[in-house]
Amino acid sequence: MQQQVTLRLTPSEALDEQVISSTIAAHLNKAVTDITGYFVVKQSLDARGKQAWVNLTLNVFINEPFQQRTVRKIELQPVHSARHSVVIVGAGPAGLFAALYLIEQGIRPVILERGKDVKARRRDLATLNKAGVVNAESNYCFGEGGAGTYSDGKLYTRSTKRGDVNRILNIFVQYGADEEILYEAHPHIGTNKLPHIITAIRNAIIESGGLFIFEKKVTDLLIDRGSVTSVVTADGDQYPADSVIIATGHSARDIFTFLHAKGILIEAKPFALGVRVEHPQALIDEMQYNRKPTISSPFTAEGLSYKRSEYLPPASYSLVQQVKDKGVFSFCMCPGGIIAPAATNPGELVVNGWSPSKRNNFFANSGMVVTVNQQDLTSLQEYNAYLKHHGSDINSPLSLMYFQQMVEEKAFQTGGGNMVAPAQRMADFSDNKSSSSLPSCSYLPGIHSANLNACLPPFIYKSLQQGFRAFGEKMKGYFTNDALVVATESRTSSPVRIPREQLTLQHPQLKNLYPCGEGAGYAGGIVSAAMDGERVAASICLQLTGKA
Ligand SMILES: Cc1cc2nc3c(=O)[nH]c(=O)nc-3n(C[C@H](O)[C@H](O)[C@H](O)COP(=O)(O)OP(=O)(O)OC[C@H]3O[C@@H](n4cnc5c(N)ncnc54)[C@H](O)[C@@H]3O)c2cc1C
Repeated sequence: MQQQVTLRLTPSEALDEQVISSTIAAHLNKAVTDITGYFVVKQSLDARGKQAWVNLTLNVFINEPFQQRTVRKIELQPVHSARHSVVIVGAGPAGLFAALYLIEQGIRPVILERGKDVKARRRDLATLNKAGVVNAESNYCFGEGGAGTYSDGKLYTRSTKRGDVNRILNIFVQYGADEEILYEAHPHIGTNKLPHIITAIRNAIIESGGLFIFEKKVTDLLIDRGSVTSVVTADGDQYPADSVIIATGHSARDIFTFLHAKGILIEAKPFALGVRVEHPQALIDEMQYNRKPTISSPFTAEGLSYKRSEYLPPASYSLVQQVKDKGVFSFCMCPGGIIAPAATNPGELVVNGWSPSKRNNFFANSGMVVTVNQQDLTSLQEYNAYLKHHGSDINSPLSLMYFQQMVEEKAFQTGGGNMVAPAQRMADFSDNKSSSSLPSCSYLPGIHSANLNACLPPFIYKSLQQGFRAFGEKMKGYFTNDALVVATESRTSSPVRIPREQLTLQHPQLKNLYPCGEGAGYAGGIVSAAMDGERVAASICLQLTGKA
């Protein structure tokens, strides 16, 4: 017999198989010897009270042979000589999961990726971190696996209705992720593991007959009677296609620009912009697990009265505050993480965050951002001059993209070059005064003390100033001069939407062009982008073969 059992255990009990077996037996009124095995179906941590609890839902085997959990694997078909081929632009999660789905259905994907494979890409990231030199084709956003390859690899999504989250997680496990991601409430993979999984997915695609070409930047589309006939790359090569998926991510400004220049409909899309905040992880642990911040500033590890138990994971947080008509919220929190330089062009400064699988670095960082829409910008004189300089205006679908670019360029200048980021202590930031000294920071290219109002527009920094004070009320200890505020977190989502028909997912003007993933405005993370890739691929299958 098999039965589902839910237990509430302390974090140390939840790691002890003997305790779990005896608790199951007591719960079911059975002898321990009747329990032949179990596997975890769901696991979550409840750290709201003084005592942290782990909620475990288990599939228990009673007096019958134990069987391991089955991972739902996909089966790829050989597509070397398939009748149809689909060009996928971009090898991020949207592009990769679209490719896998197409192969399952017997269609050959041709993946064109502007960046390098994960291994070669790592070298460009090292140069970026050490020398502050960004390669415009190979960086934290561009290259195999897309923007999330060197990330925390958080795999939770709110878009559960947009596809089969479990299917995506099972595919990650099939290609090398730990099974934990199938039952953890907040699964994540980590920067050290993601590249191996991405490589395994690429190898599976190639073995089945899919074509994968790196360092192939798409620069144009050839169009005939309302359909794309070929995709053109920077070196002049042309790739004929039955259908084309544009899965180029939120940072492909050249794609947005060329679509607009060609008269292909795109729209401005509200996004969010702000800063990345960094605290010592031990401070966040103290706030979230101990709830009595006793640490005196300035922070020293020795000054801590609380130390996280070895059974608890590094704590995280999620904060949101309405400041007048603006939403201020935390974004992509990375416990035990590192702040990364995520710009895609020289002369721009963008920060983001990543963590290794163990989340065991000294600091915790998170984006803290403010919503931005076109109405916020109409009276910004400098911005209007910037738009004019770029031959654009406030009504252009590229207007929010130019705003993002302008703030990134100002942050670069405020930092003084070489990807050195402008930074301020949190209380100083909120008091509008420059910091006379800065604490150490995980951001490798370095930080420079500056007043961040030199690069952030007033509606952003004023909302953040109030937001930080409010967060300090919600999370005692959060508002402290031991925390750093680093500019600028600007690539939170795409500032452009590429429209598509609701039912067919085709672009309204071009019937075989499929906007897909985060860059087109239909996803906001690894899993939602992967699900969107599958949705688009299913729609293409229906159009080309009559079945999805
Ligand atoms: C540092 C960092 C950390 C992140 N952490 C997380 C996280 O923990 N969890 C999470 O869910 N999300 C995270 N994200 C966001 C996540 O990575 C994205 O939401 C997701 O990757 C979007 O997938 P996508 O396939 O739509 O686009 P992308 O992943 O952006 O992929 C687009 C691909 O298209 C390629 N491309 C662009 N233009 C062209 C062109 N002209 N020709 C050919 N190829 C082109 C790019 O090189 C890129 O590989 C993080 C992002 C960053 C940068």
